[in-house]
Amino acid sequence: MPDQKRFLDQKLIAADFYNEVLVKCPQCKAKAAAHADSLSQIAKLVCTECGYNKTATMQNGGGRTNAAANTYFQAELWLQYPFGNDLFWAYNEQHLKYLEEYIAASLRQSLNRSGFTMTEKLPRFIQQGSNRRALLKIIERLKQTL
Ligand SMILES: [Zn+2]
Repeated sequence: MPDQKRFLDQKLIAADFYNEVLVKCPQCKAKAAAHADSLSQIAKLVCTECGYNKTATMQNGGGRTNAAANTYFQAELWLQYPFGNDLFWAYNEQHLKYLEEYIAASLRQSLNRSGFTMTEKLPRFIQQGSNRRALLKIIERLKQTL
């Protein structure tokens, strides 16, 4: 079957996408970016549209934290779209493309299943082949907002 697409799990975990997250600007609702730097433990949300600019410390009760950059600002994700009772979402463009590759592939290959990679933890509606076409349409729409 020559047209079969193969997805090779690159072993990325959700945390690999935490550092730069596209969000809805809390002020003007335009596309903005939240950055988290786990070394300095400083997170920033910057909107080039309206100039909104906020910094937050990632420390939590004295301990270091590492969560998705948007969580420090309670900012809504930019890349999200309802799918039935579920919500399809991605942190950023790279994450969206990774999900697209995964969803588009009819052969999903993971060399050593660990149970911890991002794709292994995806919700069922994303893993279901019967949702493939609908999900790829959503991804196309989201890409146009990038
Ligand atoms: Zn703004």
